Amino acid sequence: MTERQLDLFGPPARPTRVDLATGAALLPGFALAAADPLRVDIAAIAAESPFRHMATPGGFTMSVAMTNCGALGWITDRAGYRYAPIDPLTHRPWPAIPPRLLTLAGAAADRVGFPGFTPDACLVNLYAPGARMTLHQDKNERDFTAPIVSVSLGLPATFLFGGDDRSDKAQRVPLVHGDVVVWGGPARLRFHGVLPVGDLKRVSTPPAPSAPPSSSVPSLDAVRINLTLRRAG
Ligand code: FE
Repeated sequence: MTERQLDLFGPPARPTRVDLATGAALLPGFALAAADPLRVDIAAIAAESPFRHMATPGGFTMSVAMTNCGALGWITDRAGYRYAPIDPLTHRPWPAIPPRLLTLAGAAADRVGFPGFTPDACLVNLYAPGARMTLHQDKNERDFTAPIVSVSLGLPATFLFGGDDRSDKAQRVPLVHGDVVVWGGPARLRFHGVLPVGDLKRVSTPPAPSAPPSSSVPSLDAVRINLTLRRAG
């Protein structure tokens, strides 16, 4: 078989950019080359500021486990949603944003039309199978002129990209390991969320008898990790 025939029967190439709205695009595989080193960075972040399940102002525990890196970290508790310079769990500043993540986020933002993006906050979300994120707007940031850059690692997920009103019908965007989504400008306050990750068989699997310490990061075969970079302060 010739190389050309192999091409014909190989998996279809993914586009390098899929526009979702004015100011919003999916960049398939944009973070793929950085994925392995980023996983090492995430383990170092979690060793300093562990993943934890935060409570919503309404008293619910979030299904997604979270930590942060950057000068500011997003937190929620009974007092509300906000950014804070000190990790309430460790009483220390959040770990710094890894330089390679700053570079990646800046390049992704630039690709979608937002040059000079210098994030000061990165929320790190860990989705075990079954975890989800209901539709919401990212509006605790002080600066809406900067975009949101979202990097997906690990298990695939379905991203919901909605409109400016909660009731607007949301696009369903399949995300896989290494994908990046950027939304800013007129799309900056779009509602968005994530459908429950993984299949129901995995969800019903009982947890391993010896749960890893909270500072460790599970294999990317078993969870989804999402890094969202923002200009918060
Ligand atoms: Fe969000």
